Amino acid sequence: MSDRTSKVEMHKQDPKERTRNFNEVASGYSAREAMEEAKRCLQCKKSPCIKGCPVEIDIPAFIKCIQEGNFQASIDKIKEKNNLPAVCGRVCPQESQCEIKCVRSQKGESVAIGRLERFAADWEMNESAPNRCGTSSSSAIKVAVVGSGPAGLTAAADLVKLGYEVTVFEALHSSGGVLRYGIPEFRLPKSVLEVEISNIEKLGVRMHPNVLIGKTFTIDDLIKEGFSAIFIGIGAGLPHFLNIPGENLDGVYSASEFLTRVNLMKAYQFPQYDTPVKIGRRVGVIGGGNVAMDSARVALRLGAEEVDIIYRRSKKEMPARQEEAENAEEEGVKFHFLTAPLAFLGNKENQLTRVKCIQMKLGEPDESGRRRPIPIKGSEFIMGIDTVVVAIGQGANPLLAQTTPDLKLNHRGYIQINEETGQSSIPQIFAGGDIVTGAATVIAAMGAGKKAARGIDEYLNRE
Ligand code: FAD
Ligand code: SF4
Repeated sequence: MSDRTSKVEMHKQDPKERTRNFNEVASGYSAREAMEEAKRCLQCKKSPCIKGCPVEIDIPAFIKCIQEGNFQASIDKIKEKNNLPAVCGRVCPQESQCEIKCVRSQKGESVAIGRLERFAADWEMNESAPNRCGTSSSSAIKVAVVGSGPAGLTAAADLVKLGYEVTVFEALHSSGGVLRYGIPEFRLPKSVLEVEISNIEKLGVRMHPNVLIGKTFTIDDLIKEGFSAIFIGIGAGLPHFLNIPGENLDGVYSASEFLTRVNLMKAYQFPQYDTPVKIGRRVGVIGGGNVAMDSARVALRLGAEEVDIIYRRSKKEMPARQEEAENAEEEGVKFHFLTAPLAFLGNKENQLTRVKCIQMKLGEPDESGRRRPIPIKGSEFIMGIDTVVVAIGQGANPLLAQTTPDLKLNHRGYIQINEETGQSSIPQIFAGGDIVTGAATVIAAMGAGKKAARGIDEYLNRE
């Protein structure tokens, strides 16, 4: 057992260097570093860390295997509960989930559970060890999964392991959801995602890309095709806008469009890929979440001279992962807290040239529990900005629900479900992930996919 109170450091690319490339920022632990960090785990009997994990990975057990140098056993243990460990080890907000519950954090830093998870998953990929997710035998009962984000992929993997014949219908040409089209390459390399998705395909899950359910086929069509149950995991991908003057000017992007063009259409490899993204000299990003941090850091890497985050609350209320906000700051992104845009101003050619902003102060907490931002009269000012990325959140796309009239939604347009089973108002339809909760996290979507897979199995057994 080690008595060090801080985590073993993980090597990162130098900030100056990394803003000139899209390579992964953090390089992960070596075997020696992983074993040293693993020795910090106290193997607590009550294991509070497990309670912080939405998919209930046996954290002390997988860390013990790393302590002993048995890396294959470690990844096998993780995969009992998680089919996307290399993804989760990179993007999960462990600091507010398993790590916040770690006993070690009472006197120093928690055990680096996320980094160790990433180590075990990367070790398996690099050693080309056989994927031991287990194989399935099909019962010939067909289940459809709509959407291939973390919720859909997890539900599909669990259902195929239970013996169902599972087909995933995905609107885009590649699977992964936000993991592919939202989170940039320097945080989650596509090659890592590919391996984890292909492991799920190897279990027997069929991927059917380029199918927009609600347009290409309806939910009714799927039922008529013989699918006995359907899981809907279509995320919340419809961008919110500010609804202020000038939002239609050239140079104003939604974060969804900006990141999708860069990630999915490989704009960052222009001219090898023919999807250019026009980027100005000074870029303003509106918002303070992970999407805003990603947009700002992508803009830097595309060659912007200055990138400014404009956020209407203070640093304390920023919803972005602390690590990612720190990375952005290290890379030179400037933060303007307590600032809100009032209008986008342009030239005769309808190109954005400036943003009119106002200073804010914080009032009483609102329904989200965060202190409400209030404009300060007479504090308006102008920022010279020629590209803006609006990253203030996403909502539910109404297309699928419009063609499935019996599907009950809540007042914000998200699908209503039974929280225990994931079942919707239509008995053979289940749902989970962002389309139920609104924009949340990868691991929460995976937890919902797991729960719904169990719900579908119980429903089909009853039927
Ligand atoms: P999604 O990942 O949105 O997947 C839904 C899929 O369904 C998509 O592939 C979509 O094309 C498809 N689809 C939609 N409609 C249809 C239809 N009608 N027919 C067929 N297919 C359809 N979370 C973290 O935990 N850590 C992070 O660091 C993090 N960073 C983020 C960065 C960005 C830029 C964004 C946008 C989000 C981030 N999140 C992060 C949030 C996280 O990615 C989401 O909460 C999670 O991906 C939700 O998973 P999901 O499966 O519900 O939906
Ligand atoms: Fe190890 Fe921390 Fe979990 Fe205890 S709480 S078992 S120290 S990871």
